[in-house]
Amino acid sequence: MAYKLSKSGKDCSVCGGEFETGAEFFSAIFEVEAEWDRKDYCLTCWGRGHENAFSHWRSKMRPPEEKRVAFEVDRVLGLFDRVSEGDSESRDRLRYLLALMLVRKRVFKFVGTSSGEEEGIRVFCPEREQEYPVRDPGLDAEEIEKARNELGALLDLDL
Ligand SMILES: [Zn+2]
Repeated sequence: MAYKLSKSGKDCSVCGGEFETGAEFFSAIFEVEAEWDRKDYCLTCWGRGHENAFSHWRSKMRPPEEKRVAFEVDRVLGLFDRVSEGDSESRDRLRYLLALMLVRKRVFKFVGTSSGEEEGIRVFCPEREQEYPVRDPGLDAEEIEKARNELGALLDLDL
């Protein structure tokens, strides 16, 4: 689907320097022509500038035997907020997937579906006491499962 990964989480996309275990680095995602691209940066290259990053986070290189970080609620919620600004097909799609992941992790509660002009779901965040309508981009179960894996890789999270 619409995600691109450029050898994520191993080396710097600018200088090519490899991240050693324990090294800190930044990861950023970019919206490029309705796709999501992920790039990683060493601290030096990040400090030199990173244009148009849609969202970014700082991580530490884990030993190879350790895979993904568990779910980081703040990061996923932050991305959900960010992706809620403005609309495009890629944002709608990502927003829907993030909402599903947040329901799955019990950060959001599933309220119901809405039909009519805009088909979608409604979710509620107890912590924020806020309900969100989320447009359904019309993905089937198989597509959602595939997207979940890709999104996990994009965000380096166990979704
Ligand atoms: Zn670098």
